[in-house]
Amino acid sequence: MTRVDAYSTPWTDVASHLAAGDGLVLLPFGALEQHGPHLPLGTDTATAVAVAERLADRLDALLLPPIHYGDTWNNAGYPGTVSLSPETVTSIAVDIGRSLAASGARALIVVNGDWGNRQPLYTAVRRLNAERILPALALDYPGMDEAVAEVRTSRGAAPGLNHAEEVETSIMLALEPEHVHPERFAAEYPEFPSDFGTRPMQLHPFSPSGVFGDPSHATAAKGEHILAATVEGSLAVLADFIAGLPPR
Ligand SMILES: [Zn+2]
Repeated sequence: MTRVDAYSTPWTDVASHLAAGDGLVLLPFGALEQHGPHLPLGTDTATAVAVAERLADRLDALLLPPIHYGDTWNNAGYPGTVSLSPETVTSIAVDIGRSLAASGARALIVVNGDWGNRQPLYTAVRRLNAERILPALALDYPGMDEAVAEVRTSRGAAPGLNHAEEVETSIMLALEPEHVHPERFAAEYPEFPSDFGTRPMQLHPFSPSGVFGDPSHATAAKGEHILAATVEGSLAVLADFIAGLPPR
């Protein structure tokens, strides 16, 4: 299918695409967040955009420009990270959903690239659905954990914590190798307190570099495997969501 990118398309073409096709809209929701000394601040946005672009190629969906900021309170102690409040993240997604409903969209699919956005985006899609503004869901990279388990050769820093290590570095080597600095790869395995992950904690006291794990195991091939599996996992989740949308 042909990708229709809202940023570079006149409104008339977007209107006819939404009216003639399935009426699906993809929103990549990223973050401007520290990813160690070897990856760019835009890592989460780049990943969400790549997954959303590939989904747009497989679905009859309009691709929106990404949100470059997210709720990154956990990493706010590292200069360069620019964090939104959870309420702002929720409001952005709800406002975009409301605007899309008025544009004739049939559903909003948010591709979330940042861990801190999960709760605020869940709140947003719940509101969009409960208030019958627009059917919506937020994808938190379904299929990624399974793909990571297949290719990872380094130990994780903590359960569920993939940050600026093998996984994210592999993805960026696949997507934007020109923005990766391999000469700065340095592993970091912090000591975490026993209640880590069970209550909100900022990360900068634990890792001076912002790395959690070992980036030196990263390869572009691993990144491509993880991205491809995430796209397939997302399509599997979306199948019943799309099939269950009310007819026009
Ligand atoms: Zn990240």
